[in-house]
Amino acid sequence: MTFRGAALSLLTIAAASLAPAGALTAGPIAAPPAAEAFRLGGLKLFTLRDARYEAANDGRTFGVDAGPAAVAALLSKSGLPTDHIDLSVDALLVIVPGHVALIDTGLGPKAHGGLIASLKAAGFVPAEVTDLLITHSHGDHIGGLLDTAGAAAFPKATVRLSAKEWAWIQTQASSAGLVAAIGPKVKTFEPGVPILPGITPVALGGHTPGHVGYEIVSNGARLLDIGDSAHSSIVSLARPEWTMGFDNDPVAGKSSRRDTLAMLAKTHELVFAPHFPFPGVGRIEASGEGYAWKAGLK
Ligand SMILES: [Zn+2]
Repeated sequence: MTFRGAALSLLTIAAASLAPAGALTAGPIAAPPAAEAFRLGGLKLFTLRDARYEAANDGRTFGVDAGPAAVAALLSKSGLPTDHIDLSVDALLVIVPGHVALIDTGLGPKAHGGLIASLKAAGFVPAEVTDLLITHSHGDHIGGLLDTAGAAAFPKATVRLSAKEWAWIQTQASSAGLVAAIGPKVKTFEPGVPILPGITPVALGGHTPGHVGYEIVSNGARLLDIGDSAHSSIVSLARPEWTMGFDNDPVAGKSSRRDTLAMLAKTHELVFAPHFPFPGVGRIEASGEGYAWKAGLK
C-alpha cells in the first residue's frame, strides 16, 4: 500500500470523514486487536492485526491498465462488493533465540493503527521488541515506528531495512521527522545475507526502490513474508500482470510480482502477506492464467 508518510495518510482520513453518509469509506479503518500464534519448524510466530484498509475500485490502484469494470468482474466472481477492494494491514512477529523481531509496524497510532494492542494480545510489550525488520517505507509499514508524541515506539529495537530503501527515505521531505527520530537506531543491510538466525531479506524490487521480503527458515520449514509484492488476495493473484497504482515503478513491480508468485506456486512454501485477509498466512497455487490464495497452515 502507499500514502508515503503521515501527511498523505491524514489527508486520506480527512477525505473519508467528509464523505456523505452511505458513501464508500476509502482509506484506513480501525480494527479490533488480534494476534494469531503459529509454529514454523522450531520457531514461534504471531500475525498481528493493525487495521483495515478500503481501496476504491476507481482504476487508480488496482487494474490501472484494465479498468474498474474488469476489476469488478473478478470481485463479483468471488461474491465480493465491486465498488472497493478490502485489504487488511497486518504485521508478523517472529521469536528467534535472543531476539523478538517484528516485521513491519503498521499505520501507527495517528492513522488508526492498533498494532500495539495486538502485540500485547500476543503477550509482548514494545520494549521487548529487539529488532524491527522493515519491508519498505510506505506509511502502512513504517507509521508504527513512532508513537503519538513522535518518539520511537519500540525504544530498544534496532531498525533494520535495506540500504537502498534507507537512502530513498532520506530523499523524501515528508519523512524528515521520522528520519531524525529513528536515524540513530537504523542498521542497513544488503538483501541475500541473513540478518538474524534463520531470517534473510530477499530483494523484491518495483514496489519501492529497496523493497524486500523476509525468508524465515527453521528445521527445513520455510515462510516468505512477501511485503507488498501482492496487495489483494483476489485481484493481485488472479491478474498479477495488471498495473498496481501503489507500485513506485509499475513495470518492475509487475515483473517482481509475477516472478515471486511463480516461485511460490512452485516451492509451495508458506507465505505471509500483510494485506491479505487476517491472519494472512497461506500458500500460493496456480489457477487459470494466474494464481489463487489458499489460506491456512496446511
Ligand atoms: Zn502496504
